[in-house]
Amino acid sequence: MKVLFATSEIAPWVKTGGLGDVAAALPAALGDAGQDIRVLVPAYPALRRAFPYAREIAALPSVAPALPPCRLLGVENDGLSFILIDCPPLYDRPGNPYLDAHGLDWEDNGVRFGLLSRVAALLGQAKTPLPWRADVVHGHDWQTALAAAFLRYEGGAASVVTIHNVAFQGCFPAELAVGLGLPPDAWRFDGVEYHGQLSFLKAGLQLADRISTVSPTYAREIQGEDFGYGLAPLLRHRAADLTGILNGIDTALWNPSRDPALKTNYGAARLGSKRANRRALQEELGLAVCEDRPVFAVISRLTHQKGLDLLLTLGAGITHLPAQLAILGTGEKELETGFRALAAEHPGQIAVTIGFDEALSHRIEAGADAFLMPSRFEPCGLNQMYSLAYGTPPIVRATGGLADTVVDVNPDTLAAGSANGFVFQEATPHALWLTLERTVATWRNRRTWHRLQQNGMRRDFSWTQAAKAYLRVYEQACSVRAT
Ligand code: ADP
Repeated sequence: MKVLFATSEIAPWVKTGGLGDVAAALPAALGDAGQDIRVLVPAYPALRRAFPYAREIAALPSVAPALPPCRLLGVENDGLSFILIDCPPLYDRPGNPYLDAHGLDWEDNGVRFGLLSRVAALLGQAKTPLPWRADVVHGHDWQTALAAAFLRYEGGAASVVTIHNVAFQGCFPAELAVGLGLPPDAWRFDGVEYHGQLSFLKAGLQLADRISTVSPTYAREIQGEDFGYGLAPLLRHRAADLTGILNGIDTALWNPSRDPALKTNYGAARLGSKRANRRALQEELGLAVCEDRPVFAVISRLTHQKGLDLLLTLGAGITHLPAQLAILGTGEKELETGFRALAAEHPGQIAVTIGFDEALSHRIEAGADAFLMPSRFEPCGLNQMYSLAYGTPPIVRATGGLADTVVDVNPDTLAAGSANGFVFQEATPHALWLTLERTVATWRNRRTWHRLQQNGMRRDFSWTQAAKAYLRVYEQACSVRAT
């Protein structure tokens, strides 16, 4: 099958979150499964620098009033074919792909990602400028969801839209619909219109042949008012076409037996070596080197979504459990300031690193005893899967992908061999506190703890399963399109 994978970010070059990782790993897994995949992404400066030898494969004139002319560049990397959209006025900007130097959305984001969506659709149509035409165009989040609308109104390939986070919907003034070349009859409540605006995501969810999101639980949650961010009625309407597929993790990068960032490598059969990583982490972060209490860890955007205000509320209580706490993250100023102050009050017991540090994140996963993700919502989440792979049982709230990957420890799940962490329901400091107490008690029972670690490390989080599930979605989308 010929699949165009259209994305606004791709790791390791341009990444703001989980989408960047998925865009790097899923096309590779689909390629390994024998599919003909092309990845379409804007030629941001980071990609131009990475691939200076990319060659022009097509020149496109302006195809709609708001869209400037552009060139398509082709390049092969690690067995994958990339198509870069070269349009310097839109994409030749440093840093974050969506925000300017002041942290504000670029004013012309509607045009920037309108062009990306428009070209994605074109590569699945008879008028494709390449000697290649997609059977399926797969868009991700609002930035490429509009491709499904062009394909619906003009004909062409089957379309799939994947939701990585439904909170971001790409809403723009109505005039942009004309500027992007959408037909007048697209301006309907069951077309691209959303409360008087053009919403890229709503349009995609309305008009794609199939929709997916990044975990089965999130697929259910976004159909409810609490998590749907206004799109729940539409998602309920399309429930039969909506599938939740859990992301995989990059098992070459996240493997404790080969990870070059670690003090000592280890595996499920050599868990004793994890202790050397724990000691090294305590030394590196200035935590007291002691073995009488567990080290809890957080690596995260410090935001309300991630529920870290619940942890901050517990404050000094954590040291009385007793436990140590290691935090790595950046985000909302109140949380950064609050955690910094907490660390200053409890030197040796609470360590806070404000910043983004990939290597340290690996050392924390290996050195910590348990990993905290009290998220209010979490479409899929990666760190709980890294934690399971590193023998660091996760403590999570039952939401989205966290609910689909972490199995709470109790006599039944222990007997079944599925228990791998700690799950709580209510997003309250009290519920978190009770779970932390339970975690410390379980940590003291070395046999049970060891079983939790083993159960987590045994699970297969590779992309192979996800790639198979996406292939089924592509096939369904194609059969809808054929009828
Ligand atoms: P989200 O996309 O909502 O931020 P995910 O769990 O899906 O959450 O992905 C976040 C990714 O970013 C993970 O790989 C996580 O380890 C990484 N990450 C987040 N904050 C930091 C940080 N401060 N330093 C290093 N890695 C981080």
